[in-house]
Amino acid sequence: MIDSPSTAPIVCMFECLSDNYGYLIHHPASKQTICIDSPDADLILAKAKSLNWKITQIWNTHWHPDHAGGNAKIQSETGCDIWGPQEVKSRLTAPLDTVLSGGETLKLGELDVFVLATPGHTLQHISYYIPAISSAFVGDTLFALGCGRMFEGNPTMFWDSLQKLRALPDNTKIYCAHEYTLSNLKFAESVEPNNEDLKAYARTARALRQQDKPTIPTLMSAEKACNPFLRSDDSLLQTQLGTKSDSVETFALLRKMKDDF
Ligand SMILES: [Zn+2]
Repeated sequence: MIDSPSTAPIVCMFECLSDNYGYLIHHPASKQTICIDSPDADLILAKAKSLNWKITQIWNTHWHPDHAGGNAKIQSETGCDIWGPQEVKSRLTAPLDTVLSGGETLKLGELDVFVLATPGHTLQHISYYIPAISSAFVGDTLFALGCGRMFEGNPTMFWDSLQKLRALPDNTKIYCAHEYTLSNLKFAESVEPNNEDLKAYARTARALRQQDKPTIPTLMSAEKACNPFLRSDDSLLQTQLGTKSDSVETFALLRKMKDDF
């Protein structure tokens, strides 16, 4: 009897630069290997080689150098195609072959991958959702217990993006691009000191970091219960912050408070 090879994609996550995560997604049947962003070309190329995977595509989330800075080198070494938002080319002048703006459906073997427009951190930021493995690659839009800085967008836009991600199923694994969890945790605890779900989350996250283990991926259900930015429409939080049932105003205030924290 011959075991049929598994067709489920495999996600390989590894630390890059000072606090980025690099991601390779390999689909065994099609031999496709996707590199989510390109924070550190040499490290990513070495990781792919060690796994015997050939990078076939880079999918960028946004133009920042710690996300698209390795595009040129990875493409020159592997001949891969690069997909991502126009800003990768226009802002960073990094190579880009196919422009994505959200709403597209990509293929990983036979599996669908949905591209979501999630602007706010940058104006053309996109995220990738793969239902077959209940996983979303969200770049710098959503972090464990936090969200990205609002460098280019406005609060309405960013809150819309967070709501779009929050609408994904509770069991969605959130693969964000940085290990910022403990500093986000301190802010979340200052905002909602009596949130019991957050207390449980805090114990797990601190224990993981004490063992030098990643807190990523995080689950959407946990983020919905504990991430203050995803809770900008929570009436108790709004009352506490005095934002009068205005979710956008609440999000904007939380973002400002975190910037100054
Ligand atoms: Zn960024």
